[in-house]
Amino acid sequence: MNRFWSSLVQRTDPYVPGEQLNQPDLLKLNTNENPYPPSPKVAEAIKEEAENLRLYPSPTVDVLRDAIAGHFNLKRDQVFIGNGSDEVLAFSFMAFFEPGKAIRFPAITYSFYPVYAKIFDIPYELTPMQDDFSIQIEELFNTDGGVIFPNPNAPTGIYLPLDGIKQVLEQNPDQVVIVDEAYIDFAGESAASLVDAYENLLVIQTTSKSRSLAGLRVGYALGQKHLIEALIRIKDSFNSYTIDRLAIQGALASFQDQAYFEETTKKIIATREQTVEKLQSLGFAVIPSQANFVFARHAEKPAEELYLKLKENNVLVRHFNKAPIDNYLRITIGTDQEMNRFIETLSSLV
Ligand code: PMP
Repeated sequence: MNRFWSSLVQRTDPYVPGEQLNQPDLLKLNTNENPYPPSPKVAEAIKEEAENLRLYPSPTVDVLRDAIAGHFNLKRDQVFIGNGSDEVLAFSFMAFFEPGKAIRFPAITYSFYPVYAKIFDIPYELTPMQDDFSIQIEELFNTDGGVIFPNPNAPTGIYLPLDGIKQVLEQNPDQVVIVDEAYIDFAGESAASLVDAYENLLVIQTTSKSRSLAGLRVGYALGQKHLIEALIRIKDSFNSYTIDRLAIQGALASFQDQAYFEETTKKIIATREQTVEKLQSLGFAVIPSQANFVFARHAEKPAEELYLKLKENNVLVRHFNKAPIDNYLRITIGTDQEMNRFIETLSSLV
């Protein structure tokens, strides 16, 4: 602590992202990045836009909002764009959650949520999981302050069908329910189809995973106009230009190349299913995942030991040193070739 720090800084407990090691030949399966490059149209669009960099970008990002709205059959005023979905999440905590009113999220979930809650002084309650680590939706009913959860959940990869989400929405009629769909393209139906029907629903997605644009930093929220307006008010009280020109054109090109996105997503899903089988044959229990990662526990070998030994062998996966998930490894799905190398390395360790 430092006497010059504001109380806000003093109460922060910053998020620690997965390691970004810079060593040659590292097989990086720890931050759920896409193993395929973005659509070639993204690079073309960015190159072309470079000559306009002397000019500020559009503060309203209308061209990209229109493209995203079109993709989801929504209107421009139902789309908000931010610098990665982490920024959209941070703005949403500020826009919809209140100090003094407890929000709820599942005990096993994205570890950034408690960080936002702390910095914005929002009390939170962790709701118990089912034995198989799926979300107990009844625990998310009748909250004081609102609800947030990822779907599919992170780091389990478990998908909650829309019927469960509708119940959470209906049992919180006066609170905002945020569904963080960072991994939805590897799973089932998106809650985006519920936006017109539920005034308290905010769906957050990202171009970081299924669109291979983690480095470009473009996330977005889908919701009714009154919610989007709140997010815009927050953004415009911080920084009018959170999305730069290259990000706008790059993300736009990605939304214009649906075929490429569908092909790479399909490949990752197929590789995921093969990886699950191989992990099972090596003695792992694997939680059924609908994301671009799997969450697995070995019958005998402790996860921490495997994580460290994999790292010694130039393979990086994610290990959360926190009960009840401390005996699991979260493994991002790479290409077939990468996963073969992963399984080969792993089989020498178990
Ligand atoms: N939500 C979840 C559940 C995530 O796992 C991540 C990735 N760490 C994000 C949001 C943020 O992704 P980004 O900021 O790259 O859009």
